[in-house]
Amino acid sequence: MQHHIARKGFYEFRQRLTTKIVSSCGTVVLTDQWFPSSKTCHNCGRINQKLKLKDRTFDCPHCGMKIDRDLNATLVLSQYGEFNEKNRVGCARIYACELEEGSLPG
Ligand SMILES: [Zn+2]
Repeated sequence: MQHHIARKGFYEFRQRLTTKIVSSCGTVVLTDQWFPSSKTCHNCGRINQKLKLKDRTFDCPHCGMKIDRDLNATLVLSQYGEFNEKNRVGCARIYACELEEGSLPG
């Protein structure tokens, strides 16, 4: 029951945030909750399986890209939004938000 309430609270928060961002001409990108935005390299697209939560710098073992972890995840989600139009809500700037499984918009 607590889990259900927490999910419902998150859903309502996300709806309000989406409404606010879209009304200011922003864009929200919705992804599956398991989308590996932190572990995917924005430069080469490959996944760094060894990245741990404590690692604050994304260091790609495949192409050598070294970048702040959060900035990398932001760039990955932005690229995801560019190529997955159906997962976007809004018009210009792109923000990121988790999407519950099976609740794609439209
Ligand atoms: Zn890379």
